[in-house]
Amino acid sequence: MRTRFRGVTAREGVLVRGAVGWGEFSPFAEYGPAECARWWAACHEAAETGWPEPVRAWVPVNATVPAVGPEEAERIVASSGCRTAKVKVADAGQSVADDIDRVAAVRDALGPQGRVRIDANGAWDVDTAVSTLDTLRRFDLEYVEQPCATLAELARVRRRVGVPVAADESIRRAEDPLRVSAAGAADIVVLKVQPLGGVRAAVRVAEECGLPVVVSSAVETSVGLAAGVALAAALPRLPYACGLATMHLLTADVCADPLLPVDGQLPVRVPTVDEHRLRAVEIAPDAWRERAAAARGEWHRQAAGG
Ligand SMILES: [Mg+2]
Repeated sequence: MRTRFRGVTAREGVLVRGAVGWGEFSPFAEYGPAECARWWAACHEAAETGWPEPVRAWVPVNATVPAVGPEEAERIVASSGCRTAKVKVADAGQSVADDIDRVAAVRDALGPQGRVRIDANGAWDVDTAVSTLDTLRRFDLEYVEQPCATLAELARVRRRVGVPVAADESIRRAEDPLRVSAAGAADIVVLKVQPLGGVRAAVRVAEECGLPVVVSSAVETSVGLAAGVALAAALPRLPYACGLATMHLLTADVCADPLLPVDGQLPVRVPTVDEHRLRAVEIAPDAWRERAAAARGEWHRQAAGG
């Protein structure tokens, strides 16, 4: 990774070649076999089944602005080509004034037609969320992602502020969006293909929960990103730009034609794995073979109703 993200400095995973293409299995290190089974299901779908037909050829994506100063924030947005930016707020060691300066710079860079969303990654308590959103709403926020950690807190914030609330960290498995919706905890759900068990599973989740969806990546190679793009391309409605412009977070890709945005959009296509690039990032595979085998075993058990 170019910079640390979720405490991770290197992204690892397995690529699998199957009957219809390549799949990516890249669960984070702390996930056990039961959770990894869904990540395996997503990989298996990509390699062996394929995805539903797309209803669009391009997917709009957002630029991501980390907890940097206002000049750097403006530079990132201006050079991204995106019309939507997601701004990190509530970072440890920073003040509300830092957040205001950064959001103001991003609003300036995008102009009044651009869309600005913020992401607190669950860091605020309810009162801090309400007071900070009261201050930041003058920048015409599209939504706030995960202002607080729990569903009960999200629901309370949502009742007290005029800014739409999106749930991200609250969604780790297929049943979570329904819980979010039932709790009145969010206006929007952020969905990722691998933790939900594949593109088709994620499309079903979106239908069942009935809330608008923002498709996001789990910081994958272009192989994994292509599944996110396939989900965004298959949804009947896609009112928000997606968090799939993450290829630049990695120092290398396994494809010669990486999924990088063009004028703020990703093309709906399947990139080609390049054997030389693949070999250049290969690591000793034994631990990952075991992890994939355990996930596959668990997936078969779950599919058999065990
Ligand atoms: Mg988020």
